[in-house]
Amino acid sequence: MGEDCIFCAIAAGEAPAEILDQDEHTVAFMDINPWARGHALVIPRRHAKNLLEIDQADLAHTVVAAKRLADRMRTALACEGVTLFNSCGQAAGQVVPHFHVHLVPRYEGDMLVWPERGEQADPEVIAELASELRG
Ligand code: AMP
Ligand code: ZN
Repeated sequence: MGEDCIFCAIAAGEAPAEILDQDEHTVAFMDINPWARGHALVIPRRHAKNLLEIDQADLAHTVVAAKRLADRMRTALACEGVTLFNSCGQAAGQVVPHFHVHLVPRYEGDMLVWPERGEQADPEVIAELASELRG
């Protein structure tokens, strides 16, 4: 358990949360500051700081649990879509240092906009970056 980690405390049942689903490896619960109606989080029970540190099996379990919850959102909330995201590191906006996936139900015309939109880039620049990323 991460020291003073609020999400570890939720997973252990030691901090309050509106739990939606749980299994041996994961817990899903409502976000207390929702971006949209039904915004929820899915976490691995085992503490890992972020995407760079989580072990592969826990990551897989978390994504499978997120898919299960997305299915549930479709039927229970009649949302038209779901945005799934993860913020890794402070620069990405991560505030709680226990890996979590956000699931935000989406509704036609819901006005939820990503803070920044992409701009068309020079294909050569994209190709250079792609070759750096391929290693
Ligand atoms: P992030 O910026 O990706 O680290 O997101 C952390 C999310 O956790 C935010 O959307 C918070 O509203 C949410 N959050 C923080 N504390 C709690 C809590 N005790 N119960 C439920 N959600 C929480
Ligand atoms: Zn933790």
